[in-house]
Amino acid sequence: MPESSPLDSTGLRFLCQRCGNCCRWPGDVHVTGREISVIAEFLGISEHAFVQDYTRINARRTGLSIIDQPDGACIFLEGVNVCRIQAVKPEHCKGFPNAWNFPGWRDLCEAVEV
Ligand code: SF4
Ligand code: SF4
Repeated sequence: MPESSPLDSTGLRFLCQRCGNCCRWPGDVHVTGREISVIAEFLGISEHAFVQDYTRINARRTGLSIIDQPDGACIFLEGVNVCRIQAVKPEHCKGFPNAWNFPGWRDLCEAVEV
């Protein structure tokens, strides 16, 4: 995912249409320590195994991000729009586009105004 920036000043809210586009963008998908614990438990693996197998240092070197597939999509994306960890996905994923977005995001995201 692209780096975050403050929500614009319109105050609009958007409803995700589950197109999956944001799971295919290059960039960091930040994951916190607490999220690592929850996701690892969901996957039935240890936190150590999750960190070793599914994370990398983020671009700013401030924490961990979920690794990509060879084409740049998130490692947990299956098919067009299925998230393997949907029930426990990181706040970074949940927050787009309402909690954070970036210039030009409307051209890439199919969310509708509500
Ligand atoms: S964790 Fe799930 S929702 Fe988040 S980028 Fe990966 S596939 Fe998409
Ligand atoms: S790009 Fe927008 S509409 Fe598509 S899955 Fe992500 S948030 Fe939902």
